[in-house]
Amino acid sequence: MEPPQLSLLALLVGLLLGGGIVGLVVGALRARDRSLAQTAVDLPEGVEAMLGAMDDPAFVCDMSSTVLALSSTAGVFGLVAGEVIASDELRRVARAARDTGASVSENLRLRRGAAPAEPRLVAVRATPISPRLVLLVLRDITERERVEEMRRDFVANTSHELKTPVGAVSLLAEAIESAAEDPEQVRYFSSRLQAEVTRLAGLVNRILSLSRLQASDELRDVRDVSIDEVVTSAVEAYAIAADSAQVTVVRGGTKGLWVRGEPQILTEALGNLVANAIAYSPGGSKVGVGVKLDGTVVEIAVTDRGIGIPEADQHRVFERFYRADQARSRRTGGTGLGLSIVKHAVQRHGGEVRLWSRPDRGSTFTIRLPMSEAPDLEQPRPKSGRKGRKAAAARPAPMNGDTV
Ligand code: ADP
Repeated sequence: MEPPQLSLLALLVGLLLGGGIVGLVVGALRARDRSLAQTAVDLPEGVEAMLGAMDDPAFVCDMSSTVLALSSTAGVFGLVAGEVIASDELRRVARAARDTGASVSENLRLRRGAAPAEPRLVAVRATPISPRLVLLVLRDITERERVEEMRRDFVANTSHELKTPVGAVSLLAEAIESAAEDPEQVRYFSSRLQAEVTRLAGLVNRILSLSRLQASDELRDVRDVSIDEVVTSAVEAYAIAADSAQVTVVRGGTKGLWVRGEPQILTEALGNLVANAIAYSPGGSKVGVGVKLDGTVVEIAVTDRGIGIPEADQHRVFERFYRADQARSRRTGGTGLGLSIVKHAVQRHGGEVRLWSRPDRGSTFTIRLPMSEAPDLEQPRPKSGRKGRKAAAARPAPMNGDTV
Protein backbone atom coordinates (compact mmCIF):
# COMPACT_ATOMS: atom_id res chain seq x y z
CA MET A 1 0.00 0.00 0.00
CA GLU A 2 1.10 3.52 -0.77
CA PRO A 3 1.98 5.73 2.28
CA PRO A 4 -1.02 8.11 1.78
CA GLN A 5 -3.37 5.11 1.78
CA LEU A 6 -1.70 3.75 4.92
CA SER A 7 -2.19 7.02 6.86
CA LEU A 8 -5.83 7.19 5.73
CA LEU A 9 -6.36 3.68 7.07
CA ALA A 10 -4.65 4.58 10.38
CA LEU A 11 -6.85 7.67 10.66
CA LEU A 12 -9.98 5.58 10.11
CA VAL A 13 -8.94 2.96 12.68
CA GLY A 14 -8.10 5.79 15.16
CA LEU A 15 -11.45 7.45 14.65
CA LEU A 16 -13.29 4.16 15.11
CA LEU A 17 -11.37 3.31 18.32
CA GLY A 18 -11.73 6.83 19.74
CA GLY A 19 -15.45 6.88 18.95
CA GLY A 20 -15.86 3.50 20.63
CA ILE A 21 -14.14 4.64 23.83
CA VAL A 22 -16.14 7.89 23.98
CA GLY A 23 -19.31 5.84 23.47
CA LEU A 24 -18.38 3.51 26.32
CA VAL A 25 -17.65 6.39 28.74
CA VAL A 26 -20.88 8.22 27.82
CA GLY A 27 -22.81 4.97 28.22
CA ALA A 28 -21.31 4.36 31.69
CA LEU A 29 -22.09 7.92 32.81
CA ARG A 30 -25.68 7.59 31.56
CA ALA A 31 -26.05 4.26 33.37
CA ARG A 32 -24.80 5.88 36.63
CA ASP A 33 -27.20 8.81 36.17
CA ARG A 34 -30.02 6.35 35.48
CA SER A 35 -29.18 4.37 38.62
CA LEU A 36 -28.99 7.54 40.75
CA ALA A 37 -32.27 8.75 39.26
CA GLN A 38 -33.75 5.31 39.96
CA THR A 39 -32.59 5.43 43.65
CA ALA A 40 -33.83 9.00 44.01
CA VAL A 41 -37.20 7.72 42.94
CA ASP A 42 -36.91 4.97 45.55
CA LEU A 43 -36.48 7.46 48.41
CA PRO A 44 -39.71 8.17 50.29
CA GLU A 45 -40.96 11.71 49.86
CA GLY A 46 -39.49 14.27 52.21
CA VAL A 47 -36.41 12.21 53.17
CA GLU A 48 -33.99 14.40 51.24
CA ALA A 49 -35.55 17.59 52.65
CA MET A 50 -35.29 16.14 56.15
CA LEU A 51 -31.62 15.23 55.66
CA GLY A 52 -30.97 18.70 54.28
CA ALA A 53 -32.36 20.23 57.48
CA MET A 54 -30.27 18.10 59.84
CA ASP A 55 -27.20 19.42 61.66
CA ASP A 56 -25.94 15.97 62.63
CA PRO A 57 -24.30 13.76 60.03
CA ALA A 58 -27.07 11.47 58.70
CA PHE A 59 -27.75 9.41 55.58
CA VAL A 60 -30.04 6.83 53.99
CA CYS A 61 -28.62 3.64 52.50
CA ASP A 62 -30.13 0.73 50.55
CA MET A 63 -29.80 -3.07 50.70
CA SER A 64 -26.31 -2.96 49.17
CA SER A 65 -25.18 -0.36 51.80
CA THR A 66 -24.97 2.28 49.06
CA VAL A 67 -25.51 5.84 50.32
CA LEU A 68 -28.56 7.27 48.52
CA ALA A 69 -28.86 10.66 50.21
CA LEU A 70 -27.00 12.40 53.01
CA SER A 71 -26.98 15.52 55.18
CA SER A 72 -24.44 18.25 54.47
CA THR A 73 -22.24 17.27 57.45
CA ALA A 74 -22.08 13.52 56.67
CA GLY A 75 -19.12 14.05 54.34
CA VAL A 76 -16.75 14.42 57.31
CA PHE A 77 -17.04 10.70 57.95
CA GLY A 78 -16.14 9.95 54.32
CA LEU A 79 -19.70 9.20 53.19
CA VAL A 80 -20.42 9.92 49.50
CA ALA A 81 -23.73 9.70 47.62
CA GLY A 82 -23.80 6.76 45.22
CA GLU A 83 -20.92 4.96 46.98
CA VAL A 84 -20.96 1.99 49.34
CA ILE A 85 -20.36 2.85 53.05
CA ALA A 86 -16.61 2.43 53.61
CA SER A 87 -16.70 1.53 57.33
CA ASP A 88 -17.31 -2.18 58.06
CA GLU A 89 -18.78 -1.24 61.45
CA LEU A 90 -21.30 1.21 59.99
CA ARG A 91 -22.32 -1.35 57.36
CA ARG A 92 -22.84 -3.93 60.12
CA VAL A 93 -25.12 -1.58 62.10
CA ALA A 94 -27.14 -0.71 58.95
CA ARG A 95 -27.52 -4.42 58.16
CA ALA A 96 -28.61 -5.23 61.73
CA ALA A 97 -31.37 -2.60 61.55
CA ARG A 98 -32.52 -3.88 58.14
CA ASP A 99 -32.50 -7.55 59.22
CA THR A 100 -34.36 -7.00 62.49
CA GLY A 101 -36.67 -4.29 61.18
CA ALA A 102 -36.02 -2.33 64.40
CA SER A 103 -33.78 0.58 65.46
CA VAL A 104 -30.23 -0.28 66.46
CA SER A 105 -28.03 2.06 68.54
CA GLU A 106 -24.30 1.64 69.03
CA ASN A 107 -21.24 3.72 69.88
CA LEU A 108 -18.53 3.28 67.25
CA ARG A 109 -15.02 4.62 66.78
CA LEU A 110 -15.00 6.23 63.32
CA ARG A 111 -12.32 8.15 61.45
CA ARG A 112 -13.12 11.60 60.18
CA GLY A 113 -12.15 11.73 56.50
CA ALA A 114 -8.60 10.68 55.72
CA ALA A 115 -7.15 12.56 58.71
CA PRO A 116 -4.58 10.54 60.66
CA ALA A 117 -6.03 11.93 63.92
CA GLU A 118 -7.55 9.72 66.61
CA PRO A 119 -10.87 8.16 65.56
CA ARG A 120 -13.94 9.91 67.02
CA LEU A 121 -16.43 8.27 69.34
CA VAL A 122 -19.74 8.38 67.48
CA ALA A 123 -23.22 7.42 68.69
CA VAL A 124 -24.90 5.75 65.70
CA ARG A 125 -28.63 5.12 65.46
CA ALA A 126 -29.87 3.09 62.50
CA THR A 127 -33.64 3.05 61.82
CA PRO A 128 -35.36 1.16 58.99
CA ILE A 129 -37.62 3.59 57.08
CA SER A 130 -38.83 1.04 54.48
CA PRO A 131 -38.14 -2.67 53.88
CA ARG A 132 -35.13 -1.70 51.72
CA LEU A 133 -33.91 1.55 53.26
CA VAL A 134 -32.21 2.44 56.52
CA LEU A 135 -31.69 5.92 57.98
CA LEU A 136 -28.47 6.33 60.00
CA VAL A 137 -27.93 9.31 62.30
CA LEU A 138 -24.40 9.91 63.69
CA ARG A 139 -23.56 12.06 66.71
CA ASP A 140 -19.95 12.85 67.62
CA ILE A 141 -19.84 12.30 71.40
CA THR A 142 -16.03 12.36 71.82
CA GLU A 143 -15.98 15.67 73.73
CA ARG A 144 -19.00 14.80 75.88
CA GLU A 145 -17.39 11.49 76.86
CA ARG A 146 -14.09 13.22 77.71
CA VAL A 147 -15.82 15.71 80.02
CA GLU A 148 -17.88 12.93 81.60
CA GLU A 149 -14.73 10.86 82.18
CA MET A 150 -13.01 13.86 83.80
CA ARG A 151 -16.02 14.35 86.07
CA ARG A 152 -16.09 10.65 87.04
CA ASP A 153 -12.35 10.77 87.74
CA PHE A 154 -12.70 13.91 89.82
CA VAL A 155 -15.53 12.49 91.92
CA ALA A 156 -13.69 9.17 92.43
CA ASN A 157 -10.39 10.85 93.36
CA THR A 158 -12.06 13.41 95.60
CA SER A 159 -13.98 10.84 97.59
CA HIS A 160 -10.82 8.75 97.93
CA GLU A 161 -8.81 11.76 99.14
CA LEU A 162 -11.54 12.80 101.59
CA LYS A 163 -11.79 9.34 103.12
CA THR A 164 -8.29 9.47 104.65
CA PRO A 165 -8.68 12.60 106.82
CA VAL A 166 -12.30 11.74 107.67
CA GLY A 167 -11.14 8.30 108.83
CA ALA A 168 -8.36 9.89 110.89
CA VAL A 169 -10.78 12.34 112.53
CA SER A 170 -13.08 9.52 113.50
CA LEU A 171 -10.22 7.42 114.96
CA LEU A 172 -8.85 10.38 116.93
CA ALA A 173 -12.29 11.16 118.34
CA GLU A 174 -12.54 7.55 119.54
CA ALA A 175 -9.03 7.77 121.02
CA ILE A 176 -9.96 10.91 122.96
CA GLU A 177 -13.03 9.20 124.33
CA SER A 178 -11.10 6.16 125.55
CA ALA A 179 -8.34 8.32 127.05
CA ALA A 180 -10.82 10.55 128.89
CA GLU A 181 -9.15 9.83 132.26
CA ASP A 182 -5.67 10.84 131.05
CA PRO A 183 -5.42 14.62 130.40
CA GLU A 184 -1.99 14.30 128.77
CA GLN A 185 -3.26 11.78 126.21
CA VAL A 186 -6.39 13.85 125.62
CA ARG A 187 -4.22 16.91 124.87
CA TYR A 188 -2.04 14.90 122.50
CA PHE A 189 -4.97 13.41 120.55
CA SER A 190 -6.78 16.75 120.51
CA SER A 191 -3.86 18.52 118.86
CA ARG A 192 -3.66 15.76 116.26
CA LEU A 193 -7.40 16.03 115.75
CA GLN A 194 -7.01 19.77 115.23
CA ALA A 195 -4.29 19.16 112.61
CA GLU A 196 -6.46 16.65 110.73
CA VAL A 197 -9.45 19.00 110.77
CA THR A 198 -7.26 21.82 109.39
CA ARG A 199 -6.04 19.48 106.66
CA LEU A 200 -9.60 18.42 105.88
CA ALA A 201 -10.76 22.04 105.71
CA GLY A 202 -7.84 22.87 103.38
CA LEU A 203 -8.72 19.96 101.12
CA VAL A 204 -12.40 20.91 100.98
CA ASN A 205 -11.49 24.53 100.19
CA ARG A 206 -9.20 23.47 97.37
CA ILE A 207 -11.82 21.11 95.94
CA LEU A 208 -14.34 23.97 96.01
CA SER A 209 -11.87 26.39 94.38
CA LEU A 210 -11.07 23.95 91.64
CA SER A 211 -14.67 23.06 90.89
CA ARG A 212 -15.57 26.76 90.81
CA LEU A 213 -12.74 27.42 88.36
CA GLN A 214 -13.78 24.48 86.20
CA ALA A 215 -17.50 25.22 86.37
CA SER A 216 -17.62 28.39 84.28
CA ASP A 217 -15.51 29.98 81.60
CA GLU A 218 -16.07 33.53 82.80
CA LEU A 219 -14.44 35.45 85.62
CA ARG A 220 -17.18 36.97 87.77
CA ASP A 221 -15.63 40.09 89.25
CA VAL A 222 -13.03 41.44 86.83
CA ARG A 223 -11.14 44.55 87.92
CA ASP A 224 -7.69 46.14 87.84
CA VAL A 225 -5.39 44.00 89.93
CA SER A 226 -2.15 45.31 91.38
CA ILE A 227 0.55 42.65 91.09
CA ASP A 228 2.32 44.23 94.09
CA GLU A 229 -0.77 43.55 96.22
CA VAL A 230 -1.14 40.01 94.88
CA VAL A 231 2.48 39.25 95.76
CA THR A 232 2.18 40.83 99.22
CA SER A 233 -1.00 38.90 100.08
CA ALA A 234 0.32 35.60 98.73
CA VAL A 235 3.63 35.90 100.59
CA GLU A 236 2.00 37.07 103.84
CA ALA A 237 -0.46 34.16 103.76
CA TYR A 238 2.48 31.75 104.06
CA ALA A 239 4.73 33.79 106.38
CA ILE A 240 4.08 31.44 109.33
CA ALA A 241 4.66 28.34 107.17
CA ALA A 242 7.95 29.86 105.95
CA ASP A 243 9.02 30.63 109.53
CA SER A 244 8.33 27.18 110.82
CA ALA A 245 10.12 25.60 107.83
CA GLN A 246 13.01 28.07 108.43
CA VAL A 247 12.78 29.21 104.83
CA THR A 248 13.31 32.88 103.92
CA VAL A 249 11.04 34.34 101.26
CA VAL A 250 12.68 37.14 99.23
CA ARG A 251 10.72 39.50 96.98
CA GLY A 252 12.21 41.36 94.07
CA GLY A 253 11.81 42.76 90.59
CA THR A 254 9.58 45.35 89.02
CA LYS A 255 6.91 47.20 90.98
CA GLY A 256 3.77 48.98 89.81
CA LEU A 257 2.52 46.38 87.32
CA TRP A 258 -1.17 45.68 86.78
CA VAL A 259 -3.34 43.00 85.16
CA ARG A 260 -7.09 42.58 84.72
CA GLY A 261 -8.79 39.81 86.68
CA GLU A 262 -10.02 38.57 90.01
CA PRO A 263 -7.52 39.40 92.79
CA GLN A 264 -8.55 36.53 95.09
CA ILE A 265 -8.09 33.92 92.36
CA LEU A 266 -4.66 35.29 91.41
CA THR A 267 -3.59 35.56 95.06
CA GLU A 268 -4.62 31.98 95.72
CA ALA A 269 -2.75 30.78 92.62
CA LEU A 270 0.48 32.59 93.54
CA GLY A 271 0.03 31.52 97.17
CA ASN A 272 -0.07 27.88 96.08
CA LEU A 273 3.28 28.30 94.31
CA VAL A 274 4.82 30.02 97.34
CA ALA A 275 3.44 27.30 99.64
CA ASN A 276 4.94 24.56 97.45
CA ALA A 277 8.29 26.33 97.19
CA ILE A 278 8.43 26.49 101.00
CA ALA A 279 7.19 22.91 101.49
CA TYR A 280 9.64 21.36 99.04
CA SER A 281 12.72 23.36 100.18
CA PRO A 282 15.27 22.44 102.86
CA GLY A 283 15.41 24.49 106.06
CA GLY A 284 17.75 27.46 105.86
CA SER A 285 17.19 27.96 102.12
CA LYS A 286 15.67 30.91 100.28
CA VAL A 287 12.57 31.17 98.09
CA GLY A 288 12.42 34.05 95.60
CA VAL A 289 9.33 35.77 94.24
CA GLY A 290 10.32 37.97 91.31
CA VAL A 291 8.18 40.16 89.06
CA LYS A 292 9.15 41.47 85.64
CA LEU A 293 7.65 42.69 82.40
CA ASP A 294 8.34 40.66 79.26
CA GLY A 295 6.95 42.78 76.41
CA THR A 296 3.28 43.06 77.34
CA VAL A 297 3.35 40.04 79.63
CA VAL A 298 3.71 40.28 83.40
CA GLU A 299 5.86 37.44 84.74
CA ILE A 300 5.76 36.35 88.37
CA ALA A 301 8.44 33.73 89.04
CA VAL A 302 8.63 31.67 92.22
CA THR A 303 12.06 30.06 92.58
CA ASP A 304 13.28 27.58 95.15
CA ARG A 305 16.45 25.58 95.77
CA GLY A 306 14.50 22.54 96.88
CA ILE A 307 14.12 18.92 95.84
CA GLY A 308 13.10 19.71 92.22
CA ILE A 309 10.82 17.64 90.01
CA PRO A 310 12.02 14.78 87.77
CA GLU A 311 11.54 15.53 84.07
CA ALA A 312 9.06 12.67 83.61
CA ASP A 313 6.73 14.23 86.21
CA GLN A 314 6.99 17.82 85.04
CA HIS A 315 4.04 17.81 82.64
CA ARG A 316 1.92 15.77 85.06
CA VAL A 317 2.25 17.88 88.22
CA PHE A 318 -0.51 20.20 86.96
CA GLU A 319 -3.01 17.31 86.89
CA ARG A 320 -5.51 17.04 89.72
CA PHE A 321 -4.31 14.94 92.66
CA TYR A 322 -0.98 14.20 90.98
CA ARG A 323 1.94 14.12 93.39
CA ALA A 324 5.48 13.61 92.16
CA ASP A 325 6.72 12.82 95.67
CA GLN A 326 3.78 11.04 97.32
CA ALA A 327 5.31 10.55 100.75
CA ARG A 328 6.64 14.09 101.10
CA SER A 329 3.45 15.66 99.76
CA ARG A 330 1.35 13.81 102.33
CA ARG A 331 3.78 14.67 105.12
CA THR A 332 3.57 18.36 104.24
CA GLY A 333 -0.23 18.17 104.06
CA GLY A 334 -0.27 18.31 100.23
CA THR A 335 -3.52 17.72 98.41
CA GLY A 336 -2.21 17.33 94.86
CA LEU A 337 -4.65 20.08 93.85
CA GLY A 338 -2.51 23.19 94.28
CA LEU A 339 -0.91 23.28 90.82
CA SER A 340 -4.13 22.26 89.11
CA ILE A 341 -5.74 25.34 90.69
CA VAL A 342 -2.79 27.49 89.54
CA LYS A 343 -3.11 26.24 85.97
CA HIS A 344 -6.87 26.84 85.76
CA ALA A 345 -6.68 30.22 87.50
CA VAL A 346 -3.98 31.51 85.17
CA GLN A 347 -5.61 30.13 82.01
CA ARG A 348 -8.85 31.79 83.06
CA HIS A 349 -6.93 35.09 83.03
CA GLY A 350 -5.63 34.49 79.51
CA GLY A 351 -2.18 33.51 80.79
CA GLU A 352 -0.02 30.42 81.26
CA VAL A 353 2.27 28.77 83.81
CA ARG A 354 5.78 27.67 82.93
CA LEU A 355 7.96 25.28 84.85
CA TRP A 356 11.70 24.84 84.97
CA SER A 357 13.01 22.22 87.37
CA ARG A 358 16.01 19.97 88.05
CA PRO A 359 16.00 17.29 90.74
CA ASP A 360 18.10 18.36 93.74
CA ARG A 361 18.68 21.84 92.27
CA GLY A 362 15.26 23.41 92.59
CA SER A 363 12.30 24.69 90.60
CA THR A 364 11.00 27.90 89.09
CA PHE A 365 7.29 28.23 88.40
CA THR A 366 6.45 31.30 86.30
CA ILE A 367 2.95 32.74 86.01
CA ARG A 368 2.58 34.83 82.82
CA LEU A 369 -0.37 37.20 82.51
CA PRO A 370 -1.30 39.85 79.94
CA MET A 371 -0.33 43.26 81.32
CA SER A 372 -2.99 45.94 81.61
CA GLU A 373 -2.73 49.73 81.83
CA ALA A 374 -2.40 51.06 85.36
CA PRO A 375 -5.76 52.40 86.52
CA ASP A 376 -6.43 56.06 87.22
CA LEU A 377 -5.62 56.07 90.91
CA GLU A 378 -6.18 59.76 91.70
CA GLN A 379 -9.64 61.25 91.85
CA PRO A 380 -10.20 63.88 89.15
CA ARG A 381 -10.02 67.44 90.61
CA PRO A 382 -13.26 69.15 89.59
CA LYS A 383 -12.03 72.74 90.28
CA SER A 384 -8.89 72.79 88.17
CA GLY A 385 -10.44 70.34 85.71
CA ARG A 386 -7.18 68.39 85.69
CA LYS A 387 -7.45 64.68 85.14
CA GLY A 388 -5.90 62.19 87.54
CA ARG A 389 -2.41 61.07 86.75
CA LYS A 390 -1.88 57.51 85.59
CA ALA A 391 0.18 55.43 87.96
CA ALA A 392 3.65 54.90 86.56
CA ALA A 393 3.11 51.70 84.59
CA ALA A 394 5.31 52.82 81.74
CA ARG A 395 8.28 53.32 84.06
CA PRO A 396 7.89 50.62 86.70
CA ALA A 397 10.20 51.05 89.66
CA PRO A 398 12.78 48.34 90.24
CA MET A 399 12.66 46.71 93.64
CA ASN A 400 15.63 45.24 95.38
CA GLY A 401 15.28 42.00 97.31
CA ASP A 402 13.06 42.83 100.28
CA THR A 403 12.97 39.98 102.72
CA VAL A 404 9.51 39.14 103.97
P1 ADP B 1 0.63 19.20 96.62
O1 ADP B 1 -0.49 19.72 97.44
O2 ADP B 1 0.84 17.73 96.74
O3 ADP B 1 1.87 20.00 96.78
P2 ADP B 1 0.43 20.36 94.01
O4 ADP B 1 -0.59 20.22 92.94
O5 ADP B 1 0.66 21.72 94.55
O6 ADP B 1 0.09 19.34 95.14
O7 ADP B 1 1.79 19.82 93.43
C1 ADP B 1 1.80 18.56 92.77
C2 ADP B 1 3.11 17.88 92.98
O8 ADP B 1 4.16 18.60 92.31
C3 ADP B 1 3.56 17.82 94.44
O9 ADP B 1 3.00 16.69 95.09
C4 ADP B 1 5.07 17.73 94.32
O10 ADP B 1 5.46 16.39 94.09
C5 ADP B 1 5.38 18.52 93.05
N1 ADP B 1 5.78 19.91 93.35
C6 ADP B 1 5.03 21.03 93.31
N2 ADP B 1 5.76 22.13 93.57
C7 ADP B 1 7.01 21.71 93.80
C8 ADP B 1 8.25 22.36 94.12
N3 ADP B 1 8.32 23.70 94.25
N4 ADP B 1 9.35 21.59 94.26
C9 ADP B 1 9.29 20.26 94.10
N5 ADP B 1 8.16 19.58 93.81
C10 ADP B 1 7.05 20.28 93.66
